Amino acid sequence: MEPAVPGGAAPAAGPAAGGRVLVVEDEADLAFLLAQNLRQEGHQVDTAGSLRAARAALEVARPDLLLLDVGLPDGSGLDLLAGMRARGDYTPAVFLTARTDEADRLAGFAVGGDDYVTKPFSMAEVVARVAAILRRARQGAQARYLGAGFSVDFDRFLLERDGRAHALTYLEAELLRYLVLRPNEAVSRNELLDRVWGTDRFPTTRTVDTHVLNLRKKLEPDPAQPRHLLTVHGTGYKFVP
Ligand code: CA
Repeated sequence: MEPAVPGGAAPAAGPAAGGRVLVVEDEADLAFLLAQNLRQEGHQVDTAGSLRAARAALEVARPDLLLLDVGLPDGSGLDLLAGMRARGDYTPAVFLTARTDEADRLAGFAVGGDDYVTKPFSMAEVVARVAAILRRARQGAQARYLGAGFSVDFDRFLLERDGRAHALTYLEAELLRYLVLRPNEAVSRNELLDRVWGTDRFPTTRTVDTHVLNLRKKLEPDPAQPRHLLTVHGTGYKFVP
């Protein structure tokens, strides 16, 4: 089932069209409304009401995008992002700022923010910016992958190996894209179900295995002896470049 799309907006491209969004906002009503609207668009949303809660949430799950209030009870959202950027974390971030001051907006960009909205904002505006930034992040970094002996064009669902083109299904392409972006990292079947299939579908972990087997036939010179898509026993899979 596709997620419901309110307000006649363009339909989501598929189960992986949504991203994982961390909303860092101490006004509980606003955080609730943001989370509700983003979920309606197919995003997975976590919320944090302070810097401390945000840091704890970031340790548990890596978001695709941060919505970050500047004025938080235990400090500034600017500092949180500055710290992430200093560690080489380039997760896209949109600042929610109550101020209209130019200096504050520039400060957001200076610490590596991707965009900002000024309170009070419309939910439609925030939702549209989130969609645009997620789309940009996907297209910029993930449209193509060049590996040793193979290449993948995720937008055209094509995998080429040894001069032969193999068509990928949408889910095969999204599964491969997810693993390729996390080289050498063991990813659990449940995480793959959650992030690739999405929460609106109810496949079993066997579904992941079936898709990996099909991908191996296209990607691996010898699917019985995989070199790139490896099984991590008791966990799931990892991609080895
Ligand atoms: Ca605030």
